[in-house]
Amino acid sequence: MPLEIVTIPCLADNYAYLAHDAATGTTGVIDVPEVTPILNALAARGWKASHILITHHHDDHIAGVETLATATGARVIGAAADAHRLPPLDEAVAEGDSVLLGMGAGRVIEVPGHTVGHIAFHFPDSAVVFTADSLMSCGCGRLFEGTPDQMWESLTKLAALPDETLVCSGHEYTQSNIRFALSVDPENAALKARAARVAALRARGEATVPVTLAEEKATNPFLRATDPGMKARVGLAGAPDAKVFAHLRALKDRF
Ligand code: ZN
Ligand code: FE
Repeated sequence: MPLEIVTIPCLADNYAYLAHDAATGTTGVIDVPEVTPILNALAARGWKASHILITHHHDDHIAGVETLATATGARVIGAAADAHRLPPLDEAVAEGDSVLLGMGAGRVIEVPGHTVGHIAFHFPDSAVVFTADSLMSCGCGRLFEGTPDQMWESLTKLAALPDETLVCSGHEYTQSNIRFALSVDPENAALKARAARVAALRARGEATVPVTLAEEKATNPFLRATDPGMKARVGLAGAPDAKVFAHLRALKDRF
């Protein structure tokens, strides 16, 4: 049975997620920007947090980890590479390691770029990947620590997952990301259709995540760095994908 996923708005524009395995009653919490909305979401379903999965060390993803771990006894899992700047870990993981949520087997994918120790958690049987601030909804995280080449390699790994994979990212940034996307990809029909859907969702105050990887591949300008039309539009016809990505990321930083 696939994991049941719950999206929890936190702080101004963060998202935490619950991933629940009904067969065993196991519940993973992915990132803890703050504790109260997560405890409320758990209580509303009669679930208990058994695992906390940390994507990266930024405060808006870990601020509530220790409090939630103490309150629930949940096992805290995060990147070995970042153990020195994460809350105390019960399990330190690296590329390819497995993370078990009951019957749900996940795999750790190292996705440096936004930070050098950023990881994603992919659960193939549930077709879901938790990407936080690496691959984001119609965008990608700002490069605070890593290089454009590192982020491009990270995005390439995520883009290789099956098309139906649900991408659970860390923030509600879709609408502003789409404004940038339209500036470099104005004739993309899938992007224009997505802009209309996202505007309607936001007008109702609803979350625009998660989305399928197929939709990201069709609309996310950073994943479209491989597209000859995109390359030509930004003045880099025939250039390597990583170079086009770096240019798009720089354009977004100034947008
Ligand atoms: Zn971050
Ligand atoms: Fe963040």
